[in-house]
This record gives sequence, C-alpha cells and structure tokens, in this order.
Amino acid sequence: SYNICSFFLSSSSPHPDRIQLPRNMIENTTNGKRFPWAKNRLPSNVVPLHYDLILQPNLTTTEFAGSVQITVNVIQVTWNIILHSSGLNITKATLTSAGWNQAKPVEVLEYPVHDQIAVVAPDALLVGQNYTLSIDYSSNLSDTYYGFYKVSYKDEHAEKRWLAATQFEPLAARSAFPCFDEPAFKATFLIKIKRDEQHSTLSNMPKNVTIPVAAGIVQDEFSMSLKMSTYLVAFIVANLKNISKETNRTLVSIYAMPQKLGQVEHALDTAVKLLEFYQKYFHIEYPLQKLDLVAIPDFQAGAMENWGLITFRETTLLYDDKTSSAMDKKLVTAVIAHELAHQWFGNLVTMEWWNDLWLNEGFATFMEYIAMERTFPELQTDEEFLKLRFKTMMKDSLNASRPISSAVQSSEQIEEMFDTVASLLLMLKKYIKHDSFQAGIENYLHNHSYGSTRSDDLWDSMNEVTILDILSLGFCMIECLCVLQITNGTLDVKKLMKTWILQKGFPLVTVKRKGKSLYVQQERFLRSVESENWTSDASYLWHIPLSYTTSNCSSFLCPYAYLLDQKSATIELQEEVKWVKFNVDMNGYYIVHYAEDDWNTLINLLRTDPIALSTKDRAHLINNIFSLVGIGKVSLLKAFHLLDYLENENHTAPISQALFQLNLIYDLVEKRGMQNLAARVLLGSKIDQQTWTDNGTLSEREFRSTVLAFACSHHLGNCGTTATELFKEWKASNGTKSLPTDVMKTVFTAGAKTDDGWEFLLSMYTSSVSEAEKHKMLEALASTEDVRKLIWLMQTSLEGDLIRAQELSHIIATVSQSLPGHLLAWDFVKENWEKLIRKFHLGSFAIQNIVTVSTFQFSTEAHLLEVKTFFESKSEKISQLRCVKEAIETIQLNIKWMERNLAALQQWL
Ligand SMILES: [Zn+2]
Repeated sequence: SYNICSFFLSSSSPHPDRIQLPRNMIENTTNGKRFPWAKNRLPSNVVPLHYDLILQPNLTTTEFAGSVQITVNVIQVTWNIILHSSGLNITKATLTSAGWNQAKPVEVLEYPVHDQIAVVAPDALLVGQNYTLSIDYSSNLSDTYYGFYKVSYKDEHAEKRWLAATQFEPLAARSAFPCFDEPAFKATFLIKIKRDEQHSTLSNMPKNVTIPVAAGIVQDEFSMSLKMSTYLVAFIVANLKNISKETNRTLVSIYAMPQKLGQVEHALDTAVKLLEFYQKYFHIEYPLQKLDLVAIPDFQAGAMENWGLITFRETTLLYDDKTSSAMDKKLVTAVIAHELAHQWFGNLVTMEWWNDLWLNEGFATFMEYIAMERTFPELQTDEEFLKLRFKTMMKDSLNASRPISSAVQSSEQIEEMFDTVASLLLMLKKYIKHDSFQAGIENYLHNHSYGSTRSDDLWDSMNEVTILDILSLGFCMIECLCVLQITNGTLDVKKLMKTWILQKGFPLVTVKRKGKSLYVQQERFLRSVESENWTSDASYLWHIPLSYTTSNCSSFLCPYAYLLDQKSATIELQEEVKWVKFNVDMNGYYIVHYAEDDWNTLINLLRTDPIALSTKDRAHLINNIFSLVGIGKVSLLKAFHLLDYLENENHTAPISQALFQLNLIYDLVEKRGMQNLAARVLLGSKIDQQTWTDNGTLSEREFRSTVLAFACSHHLGNCGTTATELFKEWKASNGTKSLPTDVMKTVFTAGAKTDDGWEFLLSMYTSSVSEAEKHKMLEALASTEDVRKLIWLMQTSLEGDLIRAQELSHIIATVSQSLPGHLLAWDFVKENWEKLIRKFHLGSFAIQNIVTVSTFQFSTEAHLLEVKTFFESKSEKISQLRCVKEAIETIQLNIKWMERNLAALQQWL
C-alpha cells in the first residue's frame, strides 16, 4: 500500500515478544530496586477497563502536563500493576478501590529498557476487584513524527504557527500517557484537553462540552469512546477549518489549514460515498457519530486510521482541480478507501499482537481496491492493483523475503508483507465464489467486533461460510469451478492459505503442452545469486488455484480453474487448442513459464491478434517474461522480441509495464555509461500523436502521461521541444497560465534544466498552496543534473524548513535516478545516517525507501562491498533489516544480470 498506513516502529523495542533478560538487568530500574517483571509483553493478571485522561499541551513551551486515571480489573492476585510509560516524568501516583476509604500513595518503579513501570500496591490486589490508578506526569512534545508531536506551518498570513498531533501506532501511546500499550488491551477512553482559547481540538469522539478553567484557558471534554486499542487513540490541537456532510447519522468532516479549504471537497464526497459502501458491504454500521479526516501539514506516513480521527499528509487528502492530475485523484481516493476500511479491519476487529498486523493491513489494502472498483469504476483501479502485484512479487522473489506469518519476528520486519497479503486475498476471492468471500468477511467482523484476533480466526470464519455455502448449493455453478476440487464437500480455505502464509516467496509454474495434455509443475520462484545449477528447495509446496484461458475459450466457460496441490499434475483439455495462457489477468500469485514453442506462439499472438488477450493478460505476459529473464530461464532477446508488438498497443497497463521494465534496464546501463537503449523502444509515432491536454478518458489521460514522461526523459520525438515551449509560456505568464495537470510534471522537468527555469520553479514552489503542484515541482527540481542544486535540495529537506522533511525520501529517490545524482544520494545517506534514523525511526517506510532508492542502481563489486561495509559498521540490528538485506541482494542480482545480459544488450543496440 504505497506507504499508506503509517507504521514506523520504535527502535527501542526490537523484539516485542518473548524476551527474557538476565537477572542483573532486571534489577536495573531507575532507582536501583528490582523490577518485578522481566518480559517485554505485559502480564495478563491486570487488565484495563477505562481511562480518564486530561492533557494540557503548551504549544509555546512545547511541554505538556497530563493526568490519567485508569480503572483496572484484577484477574489474578498480585502486588504489582505493570504497564507502559516512555519518557514521562511521573510526579504523583495513587491507588484506590471501592473497599478503601481513601486513595493510597503508591511507589512507581521504572524500567526504561522495556518502556515499563511497576506500581507497587500497599496491599494484595484481589481477584475480581476493580482498582483505580491515578498518575500525574509531564513531558515534552516530540520533534519527530511519532508520539505526541508538534509541527510548524505558515498560516494564511504567512505567520509561523504550531500544531500538536499524535501518531501512536505502533508503540507510542505510552509516550503520551501511562497505559497498557498492547493492541489486545482494549478499553474505553474519556479524553479532556486544556488549551488556549484561540486553538481548537479534535479527538476520536465528538466534543461534548467546553468549560473555562483559567484566564485564557478552556477545557474540551469528548464523549466516552467505544472499547478500543491504545494505538488508535488520537488528538490534535490546532487552528484548522472544515467542511462537513451527514450520512446515515454520521457527520463526516474534512479538516485542513484555512488557506487550503478550497481543496477538500473531493475528499468529502469520496469519504461519504465510501463510508456508505463499507456499511453495506460489511453489513455493519460505522459505530461513531462522527468521522474526521485531517490534513496535517507535516506528516511522515501516508495516513493513519485512528478511530474517528484519520490523519493524512496533505497530498493524500487534498485535491485541487487546477493542479491535481488524474493519477493524483486516484491516490487520494485510494488512501481514503484504505483508511476507511481500517475503521472495521483494525479498529473494530484488531489483531491480538503485532505479528498479525498483516491481517489489518493486507485486508485494508485489498478492500481499498474492492471499494474503489465498486464505487468509482471510472478510475480503473483494478490496473493499479495489478501494478501493486507486479511490484510485490519483485520484492518477494528475493531471498531476503520472509514468510508472512512466522513465530518470532522483530517489529521492524512485520510491516513489509502487507501487499503480498492483499494479492493473496485477491487470488482467494477469484477462486471461491464472490458471495462466499464477502459472507466470510462479514462473518469474521461480526464474530470479533470489539475484540482481538489471530490469523486463524479469519480462515475459520471463511471456512464456516464456504462449507455452509457449498452444502446449501448442492451443485456447482460456473463461477465456482473450484467446487470440482473440493474433497469431501468442503473447501478448506485455511489449509490452502496456510501454504501461502507460512512459506516464504511464491511459486513458479512451468507448463508443457502436448496435444490435449498440459503438464504443470511447481517450484519456488527465486531470483538467486547462486550459480546456475542451483535447484530450488524441494520441500516447498503451495496449493495453487491455477487459472487458464485458451484459443477455444468461450466466455461461458472461461477461465478454467485447477487446484494444483501436488508438485506436478496433468490437466486434460477437451480438445486441442492453438494457444494457452495461464494465470488469467494475473489474479494468482505465481509466475508462469512455458515451453519454447508455447512462448513463440504467445509472442506471435500478441503481434497478430493482441486483443485475443485482455489488457491485464498482455501486461502480465510482459512482466512475466522479464521476471524469467531475471532468473535466466528466458533470454533477454526473446523478451525484447515480445515487446516488438508494442507498436500496436494502446492501453496503459501493458505500455507502462513495458516502460517500467525498460527503465530498470536503462537505469542500470546508464550508470555504466551506455546509452541510447530507450531509442530502440517502438513508441515512434505514439509520442508525437499525443496532445498536451487533460482531454479524454482517464485511461487515455494516463496513457499520455506515461508515454510523454518516458519520451521526454529519454529525448524521444518532439517531446522535449514541446515541453520546453510550454514551460516558457508558463514562466512568461509568471505562473498564472494553467498547464494540463497530467503533463505538468513533464513540463516542469523540461523547464528545470536551465538555471533560470530552476530558480523560477523554486520560487513558485515556496509560494504554491497546492501540495499536488508542489509535489510535481519538487520532482522536477530534483531531476536537475546540477550537483550543487541536488545537494542543496537534500540538505534543505533534512533541515525541514523551506522544504519539509516529509519530502526527503521522495527527493532522494528522484536524485538517485540521474547519472550524477545516484552517487550523491548514496553519499548523502551515509553522511547523514544518524540524523535520518533519529528523524524517521528505524523500520519506518521513509528509512526503507531511502535505503532502497539510494542503492538499487549499483551493479559493481566495488559498490556492493561499500554498501555492505557501511551497514555492517552500524549495528547488528541495522544490517539485519529486511530493506538492508534486500539492498545488498539487489546489487548482487544487478551484477549477475549485467554479466548475463550485457553482451546481448550490446548486440541488440
Ligand atoms: Zn493501513
């Protein structure tokens, strides 16, 4: 999910599970006394029921004072209450119970290594009794993007202002108030915030009442929340404005800085429509009276799904007619769809522990596409989902990939499997009847509302439905060809999915056709750096719901389905066919390899009759053949041969996949001083046929945007000339002439090539109020080949004033693409590593992106050694991060790829 969900993990708790420290460390509390609890996970002998929280942030001094009363219930007799607290200065703590006539002061032991405190009770705490723990404390607002933090922004009069907001997922609620900070400890919350009169506040629940408490200070009190996890608690103190609309007794509001209120209407319409969709789809009402979506001026992730108070970065919520492109519209819609899905998946039903976070995230990403397909079919987001699957498979085919669910997992590694899960859910949905799938989800949400789940709960809920469904049907409909595969009348979803969740990577299916027989065989698909005679681990076995289409396919019967749950099998066709294509629309999570003759037949089919295959199937064939080139199963020349048909291709999905693959190769060879590869791509007349407008269907607009961006960056056709002309006109009008949004970035990029143009663009960047426009400008600014300017951009963004730090990973990504930039970007990352991980946290998407983009274009032994040595010199933990392992493996694969294909490439040129 293009980094949608905010998820960055505290580096202070690397192994949240099952850590047992040596005794001498256990004793090392801040006051030297023995800490009574040795584990990282909290004990379950005391559970929280309710929190009364009062906070008073001071935006001038950036300190805050807090007071919390936690009502707990005792499950097992104990003398201690263990809970979380991080960086809080505790000034007073008392304990009270219905049976006691007054509150008793209690001792608090702190154990910072685990972010835990222990409250030592004066008497034994009795089973079944409720106690109320009161704690007064103070702390500072954070200057990172995590916890209770502050950011500055310029208001409509260009005055600097402060805003305080929260980002608690996964482990930062404890830095705002002492709490049982684990997702399964759900409780109710009553939040009160004291603030200056001129500010306003928001929290998960609607505001009940505001009362004056001192001169110039008032207190806002919010309604009591539903039972929820601590990481979903949120509050904001700011001066934002909103527009609202009611639907089904819920008031939906979009909040932004006052000067950006003109850009929130699209978000409001979208949020209302999607909220209505989800309530119908899940058959469960959204349970709160209000839902706020807030654009925060400086925000690290894409968005965060806090219950009733979703926070976004501005580019993922605001939409401006004049400057937002067709793709920007898709992005905003997708992020809203994702975060709204979390209001059910994640908020209503929550994973019991972080190792099942993929349950939340995979489902939210999957639902995001389902919701958009149904609610906004004109956006054609099924093609975006296809792109996501391409991207995810590339990652999962590395040796550094891990099983989705594994027993011991560090928190930094959990967040990286979400997109795989979304792809697997699609495969499952296509395989079982759609109605059963939907009923399974509904069942799951109903069974576990306000509770916590493990992954088995999901498959069990699915199984209940699929079994029932099949029994009541009694016979098979066309859409459920799968039933043919069901043994003993039941389809065991759990058994099938476990082969995908518990093993790492995904399969390669090799198909050999002989007459009417199709011989299919599975093995693990792995882009390996080992020698050619490497054979895959024989123990890998997936239950693969194969799908295929043939030349004789009628729409009545197609696609065909076959469950491959053995290493190999033979499928008998009813009659001989001219061609066969597996993995229809790439709905399945596997790569397909054919025998030489069948590849040639498919390549020929593309040339003679491309529309015999769907656009997704065409895009898939391109992706599939380049994946096979990567593991040496198919020659690069054959893949290029397949691309020859592109002259006749007029759809975005195949074209953009082809250009993506070529860019990967181009980027590599360019860094080795080879050029002109792109000129060979047969886009010829397509480039000059494009109009520089926003006209046409969404698909035509995307096609134009993709083709022209590629053409201009590789100096093809008239692209550069036209773009430069348009930039000159725009500059001459002092930026008042409106540019077509879909080609805006291409025009800016052409303009940024001259010093004059670059300076002008920078001045426009600093004054623009549209984040969509600024985003395009920044990308253009970072595409210059002027080394001084590139360094200045990265440095300025790290400082975070003129260019916000939230843009930094994107800037580094753009800088890395150019020949002069890619070495600079890596130097910058090395030099500023400590600052980067302080600002963004290890394990954050920003850090993952930075590591990936600054290294993925290296293809020499010298760079390999340098990157390896650098990360190893940092720490064991850093060198074990998945993104670091992936970076190293990618360089090794690049070296190997060059060895294998450089000669062929030179010949082709
Ligand atoms: Zn999410």
